[in-house]
Amino acid sequence: MSAAEETAGETLGFATRQIHAGAELGDRHHARATPIYLTAGFVFDDFEQANDRFAQPDDGYSYTRVGNPTNAAVERRIADLEGGSGALLLGSGQAAVATAVLALAASGDHIVSAASIYEGSRELFRDNFARLGIESSFVADANDPAQWEAAIRPETRALFAESIPNPKNDVLDIAAVAAVARRHGIPLLIDNTLATPYLLRPLEHGADIVIHSASKFLAGHGTVLGGVIVDGGRFDWGAEPDRFPHLARDPRADGRTFVERAGRAAFLSYARSVIAMRQGPVPSPFNAFFILQGIETLSLRVQRHSESALRIAQWLEAHPAIESVDYSGLASSPHRALAERYLPLGQGSVFSFTLRGGLPAARTLVDSVRLFTRMTHLGDVRSLVLHPGTTTHVNRSEEDRLAAGIGPGLLRISIGLEDVDDLIADLDRALSAVAAAELLERAGIR
Ligand SMILES: *Cc1c(COP(=O)(O)O)cnc(C)c1O
Repeated sequence: MSAAEETAGETLGFATRQIHAGAELGDRHHARATPIYLTAGFVFDDFEQANDRFAQPDDGYSYTRVGNPTNAAVERRIADLEGGSGALLLGSGQAAVATAVLALAASGDHIVSAASIYEGSRELFRDNFARLGIESSFVADANDPAQWEAAIRPETRALFAESIPNPKNDVLDIAAVAAVARRHGIPLLIDNTLATPYLLRPLEHGADIVIHSASKFLAGHGTVLGGVIVDGGRFDWGAEPDRFPHLARDPRADGRTFVERAGRAAFLSYARSVIAMRQGPVPSPFNAFFILQGIETLSLRVQRHSESALRIAQWLEAHPAIESVDYSGLASSPHRALAERYLPLGQGSVFSFTLRGGLPAARTLVDSVRLFTRMTHLGDVRSLVLHPGTTTHVNRSEEDRLAAGIGPGLLRISIGLEDVDDLIADLDRALSAVAAAELLERAGIR
């Protein structure tokens, strides 16, 4: 029995659920924490049970690629925190995005995505999926429903966007995009990595499926990778059988379709038992354990991350070397009204700012920080700094980068959990180094 079942019927707060929801308490030694079930396979009691496990894989464990109790505890907990009906844990965020889309679209199908998304997802759509015959269109302004409308085709099988796209800390108007999705009978997938379910739960605003890179805030400590797909459990996969024939039209070996077998859970069941099981991007139960450990302090960490990020954004905005700061918690942000509606508890800790001194200033700052780590990751306990133009977005054309708002002086930071005054002192020292370098440059000394 899980802790969630023990307290079924009670309405529990987020902090309580992040510690108790979905915990695995079935261990015969009564371990309180969810144990790491580090085992490839699970014993069949007898001939009959072996047959049952293969015929009804959801009824018990057989092999860790198909399911594992530690991984399942993480799935139940994240599904609970997001308000979903179920979840599937995968080996990385990229595996989660890939598995979700491949469980919806096949060759000849089409997806529409916001243009401003994680580079790894964008290239997955543009390059890998294109080779498989799944085409993608990208919407330049994700908050303009007319652009989504215009991009949708008869063969569109999913709309995809991020609740807080990095690096610029924009805020997506989820309800506006969800309305378009609903009108066309297409599911809306939201990558909620940067917001976390503590700050924002996309299913409450009309999204159908939520995706996370658990490598970021959920695990939280910059150690393990993981990804998760959460199903809202509301989308009617059988409404138009020809739209999702693999779920609603074509019978499986037992003569039934996935919709007949699983109803509203048809998508998640297919993602688990056909895509993930065959393609194999499953997480180690060892990593799942660390994700579960991280989630138990999620609300506390994200509160502190957001408070420190707001203070640093305000401090940067007042600094003469800074041209602009992209943080939706600032009064000056064009996303302020959306942030008040969607992110009242905090606006996250990943944002960007632009130095007046352009690329040379960005280079000096990155090379001068001591406490901030030069690293490509987000949601770590440590504060991180990166120059997107020469790293994550280096393979895009200059024109493309500028269209995405990524100028040569733009830096992305992810604020960690250090003392905020120490972080400000580190940035202050690095900005003094920028000023000194500019003085020398002007005097012709360098
Ligand atoms: C990091 C990230 C991913 C990819 O996740 P991995 O765990 O690194 O594979 C996807 N989406 C967003 C928004 C991310 O930040």
